[in-house]
Amino acid sequence: MKDTMILHIHETNIDETLLLKAADAIRSNKTVILPTETVYGLGANALNSKAVDQIFIAKGRPQDNPLIVHVSNMTMVEQCVKRIPEDALALMHAFWPGPLTLILEKSDLIPQNVSAGLNTVGIRMPDHPIALKLIELANTPIAAPSANRSGKPSPTSAQHVIDDMQGRVDVIIAAEHSRIGLESTVLDMTQNPPLILRPGGVTLSQLQSVLPSVSIDPQVHHNVDTPRSPGMKYTHYAPQAEMLMVRGDHQQVVKKIIQLMDEHKHLKCGIICADEHIQDYPGLMCLSLGSLSNPAFMASQLFTILRTCDTLNLDYVITEAFEEEELGLALMNRLKKAVGYHILDV
Ligand code: AMP
Ligand code: MG
Repeated sequence: MKDTMILHIHETNIDETLLLKAADAIRSNKTVILPTETVYGLGANALNSKAVDQIFIAKGRPQDNPLIVHVSNMTMVEQCVKRIPEDALALMHAFWPGPLTLILEKSDLIPQNVSAGLNTVGIRMPDHPIALKLIELANTPIAAPSANRSGKPSPTSAQHVIDDMQGRVDVIIAAEHSRIGLESTVLDMTQNPPLILRPGGVTLSQLQSVLPSVSIDPQVHHNVDTPRSPGMKYTHYAPQAEMLMVRGDHQQVVKKIIQLMDEHKHLKCGIICADEHIQDYPGLMCLSLGSLSNPAFMASQLFTILRTCDTLNLDYVITEAFEEEELGLALMNRLKKAVGYHILDV
C-alpha cells in the first residue's frame, strides 16, 4: 500500500503551491491522478519507462493496451512524434485543447511500454486548466490512461478515484466532476482515410467539417477478436450485475423490460433510462441518465450511473438503447461494452 497524498484543488482557483507537489511527483517518476475534461487520468512521466510501469501496476492494466500521452504545448508534440502531417495539424488547431486523441508515428523518446510495442503513439492536449498547468509545471508529457481499476467504469469524480486508487498511487488531485464524462475520441492518423477507433467527445461530423475523409472503423460497431486498437478488445465498464440492453420501438421496449423485471423479481433489479421514460416503469427502480433533450449531460452521467449499480448492489440491470448520432455514438459505445454486447432487439 502506498501512502497516497490527496490534494484538493479547484479548477477555477488553482493553488499552485499544491499543484507543484504533484508536478514534483511527476518529475520524480511517481504516479499522479489528474482531472481532465474527459475522465480522471492516472499519469506518469511519459518519457520514463519505469514511471510508466507504475501506471500498469496501479491499474492492473494489460501490457498490450497502449496509453495516451498528454501534452500542454506543440514542442511536446514534436518530442513525441516522428512528424506532424498537415491533416493532423489542422485537427490540432481545430480541436485542441480538447477530447481528441491523434494516433501518429512515435518518436524514439517514447518508451515501448507507452505504446505497447506499437510504432505509433496516441497524443492529446486536454482542455482542463489543472491538467494543462500540471503538464507545464512538470515540463514533460504525461502518459495517462483512465484512472479506474482495469475493467471498471472510468472515474468522473474525485470520489470515484479515491474509491478505486487510494493506496495504489502516489498523488491524487481531487477536483470537480469531469465536464464531458466520456473518454476522448481516438483517431488513427496513420491510416488513409483517418479512422475513428473510439468515438468520444469530438464527434464524426465535427471531424469531417475539418477533414471530410474521416471515417469510423467498422470494428467500432462490433465486438471483434482482432481489433486495430488494443483497447477495443477488453471488457469495460462492467458493473457486478448481469446486464442487458433492450433496443427497438419504445412501446415494445417498455413491454419487454417490464416483463423481464417481473421474471427477475427475486433479484435486486434496476433500469437505466432517460428522465422522460421513468413514468413508463411504475414501481420499478430507475436510474436515469437525464433528459433526452440534453445528450451531453446524459453522456457525462453514464459512468456515475454504472458505478451506482454497484453501490446499490444490483444483481440485474436492463438499459434502454439510445440514438447513435453525434455524442450518442460514444454513449452507446460505452453502454454496449458495459452490457457485454448482450443486446435484445424487440
Ligand atoms: P484509456 O487511456 O483508458 O482512455 O485508453 C486509451 C485508448 O486509446 C485505448 O483504447 C487504446 O487502445 C487506444 N490507443 C492508445 N494508443 C494507441 C495506439 N498507438 N494505437 C491504437 N490505439 C491506441
Ligand atoms: Mg480506460
